[in-house]
Amino acid sequence: MGYNEQVYVQEAFDTNWVAPLGPNVNGFEEAIQHYIGNDVHVAALSSGTAAIHLALELLGVSKGDEVVCQSFTFSASANPIMYLGATPVFVDSENDTWNISPILLETAIKDRIANGRKPKAIVAVHLYGMPYKVLEIREIADKYQIPIVEDSAEALGSSYNNVKCGSFGDLGILSFNGNKIITTSGGGALLTKNKKLKEKAVFLATQARDDAPHYQHSHVGYNYRMSNILAGIGRGQMEVLEDRVMARRANYEYYRSKLGHFKEIEFVDEPAGFYSNRWLTCILTPSFEIREKIRLGLLTDDVESRPLWKPMHLQPIFEKYPHFSDGTSEDLFERGLCLPSGSNLTLEDLERTVALILEILTS
Ligand SMILES: *Cc1c(COP(=O)(O)O)cnc(C)c1O
Repeated sequence: MGYNEQVYVQEAFDTNWVAPLGPNVNGFEEAIQHYIGNDVHVAALSSGTAAIHLALELLGVSKGDEVVCQSFTFSASANPIMYLGATPVFVDSENDTWNISPILLETAIKDRIANGRKPKAIVAVHLYGMPYKVLEIREIADKYQIPIVEDSAEALGSSYNNVKCGSFGDLGILSFNGNKIITTSGGGALLTKNKKLKEKAVFLATQARDDAPHYQHSHVGYNYRMSNILAGIGRGQMEVLEDRVMARRANYEYYRSKLGHFKEIEFVDEPAGFYSNRWLTCILTPSFEIREKIRLGLLTDDVESRPLWKPMHLQPIFEKYPHFSDGTSEDLFERGLCLPSGSNLTLEDLERTVALILEILTS
């Protein structure tokens, strides 16, 4: 937490704005809107997953439709496709940013169209805070007239050509889950330049209540709005977001400066114009065996590290769906490792982790 979270939460208690909406929700949405810029409208929601669900519903995804989804991601990018009874079509990553490959994306779209099943949407992800190839993906989406859901859950604070992530999709989403760069303990947001879509998202997120003195409903609704208490935490967190980005980037720089010259350890650069919040610092090792040697070696001294996300097309729940892969994400999953990356790591913590890795590599 930063400095003013409890002030905003206290304000909610003092004014009895504990019930769903209130000044903190508006204040939090305005803070995000101001930070992201680029004319976005923001709806604060109960989670990033809820935001993806609403985004897909707003784009008209329904039973029997197909939705393209980056395979190399966390399952929450894909689960809402299932909620709607649609079919995910997974697309592999490229090596520069580890995100959805423009080449494979176009292959997938052409293949599905040839099958008479043009995808209804594309879920593209800025994984680990690194922006996906924004221009290339937009070009393909426009060429085939398929809207983009921009999963920016891990990339608040990242940007592409000085434009903040979250504003590139037809709809964008953020997450404020406990593990993200800032948190409301749980929460998310839907972002769009289309004011009507924002209003419709809020309508659906508050049980789709029609304008009437009694309770009248002509749509299925959801209970997906963020509470005024949690939005108070969010307002305080927005004030320290830039500090958090700096802290995460400093972690990355430290690891890189100490480990970058080892042939066993590879880091991913930011391509020109790409700016990552470095949510997690990830490394690539030469093999699964060396990756595991480092991971298990760290664990013997109680330092937790984790393999990269397991691609969706390899997950038991998703493996039966169509996928377009060239082995890239499978390889990243086998050889990659996320190092300790919290915003509150001390220099001592970093030194200890690096010393352990050096010991493991030279043993
Ligand atoms: C965390 C995360 C989500 C989901 O956000 P929640 O707020 O936890 O529901 C979606 N996509 C990615 C890539 C994430 O990392």
